[in-house]
Amino acid sequence: MAISAKQYCEELYERVVKRNACEPEFHQAVKEVLESLEPVLEKHPEYIAMGIVESIIEPERQIVFRVPWVDDSGQVQVNRGFRVQYNSAIGPYKGGLRFHPSVYQGIIKFLGFEQTFKNSLTGLPIGGGKGGSDFDPKGKSDMEIMHFCQSFMTELYRHIGQDVDVPAGDIGVGAREIGYMFGQYKRIANAYEAGVLTGKGLTYGGSLGRKQATGYGLVYFVNEMMKAKGMSIEGKTVLVSGSGNVAIYAVEKIGEYGGKVVAVSDSNGYVYDANGINVETLKQIKEVERKRIYEYIKYHPSAKYYEGCCSGIWTIPCDIALPCATQNEINEEDARILVKNGCKVVAEGANMPTNLEGTKVFLDSGVLFGPAKAANAGGVATSALEMSQNSMRLSWTFEEVDAKLKDIMINIYKNTSKAAAEYGLKDNLVAGANIAGFVRVAEAMKAHGVV
Ligand code: GLU
Repeated sequence: MAISAKQYCEELYERVVKRNACEPEFHQAVKEVLESLEPVLEKHPEYIAMGIVESIIEPERQIVFRVPWVDDSGQVQVNRGFRVQYNSAIGPYKGGLRFHPSVYQGIIKFLGFEQTFKNSLTGLPIGGGKGGSDFDPKGKSDMEIMHFCQSFMTELYRHIGQDVDVPAGDIGVGAREIGYMFGQYKRIANAYEAGVLTGKGLTYGGSLGRKQATGYGLVYFVNEMMKAKGMSIEGKTVLVSGSGNVAIYAVEKIGEYGGKVVAVSDSNGYVYDANGINVETLKQIKEVERKRIYEYIKYHPSAKYYEGCCSGIWTIPCDIALPCATQNEINEEDARILVKNGCKVVAEGANMPTNLEGTKVFLDSGVLFGPAKAANAGGVATSALEMSQNSMRLSWTFEEVDAKLKDIMINIYKNTSKAAAEYGLKDNLVAGANIAGFVRVAEAMKAHGVV
């Protein structure tokens, strides 16, 4: 007798854990997806028979490399670089590079796995990939950043290409780093392949609206989720963790919709401003001065700064919480406190910021919950729009890009809620995103045969 989908998923999960020892973030991401897919596999046993579920979990290729560079004191430093080319069924590998000391194979794999589903949800022709390094950009000079980026690209360049694998930014990688990497790629390849990286500067092939896209897209998604339930952002109190690119533009867009963001954070602490976080000050501190969020109270003395990593921000009463910092920043306890204090909407700007137990608390409490794969897909979607413009050797206006981004986010909301409803999981957008993201990739893999 054929085994049930449930049993298949449980056995596969055990194999994944064994085969990928000591990679808890990767296990967590796989577990959530497998649980969501059970009803789909009951209905479509061919996805099991054709090995598609197992194949989608196993990266197509994993590259690990040495990154030697010379610091300002003349000392040689050695970091480790990664690129995981996860899945190319629907397009070239696509996904960011993360430079952070916590980076190791398990982090890059969980991110690449999630990226495969997220990219599929955009409806655009982009496969999944992710990369990065355990390099810590904090406290490094501009020269050190440049030397590191050049060395990183000296190895990476042979593995990427505008039709092969297209990296972009993530934590620790913004326009400055992309610029240095693009310069090095162009020099080594001796070709102007503008579409080989996205998130580029506007003078050399970047797209208007890319910088704002993840944060704006997140709020467009929140707006759709709330609209469907007869709610709106207007007049709501909002918490946004993080203060990087995603957070800054989420704060900006929430303001445009008439909501008030009262707190933002970084890994050292958080700032509470009862008058509403001033987005221009935030940009000045983070984009111009490249300083810590603590500086905010120098500009706004009535605001308060609270030292301490992570959970503190979630104790502030709010209507909407947007975790935009990093993985697993909301645990079960944080989720319970948020719900107890009246939070009705949570949408993930970061990748996997809520752990499995926290997600369960939100879903069980009837919180409108926008999972990362759907809610933060605006960034990579706009990267794909950047690739389109590069291929056409044209650039669209900010308004054109922003209108396309909005449409994409509305469609992602429609498709995830439709997929959830189709399997009797109404309002469970976690399952909806996993199912809709999976089906598109699975159908392409089915068409390609066993490859
Ligand atoms: N790092 C972003 C993400 O997690 C963007 C990736 C991209 O633009 O390729 O989706």
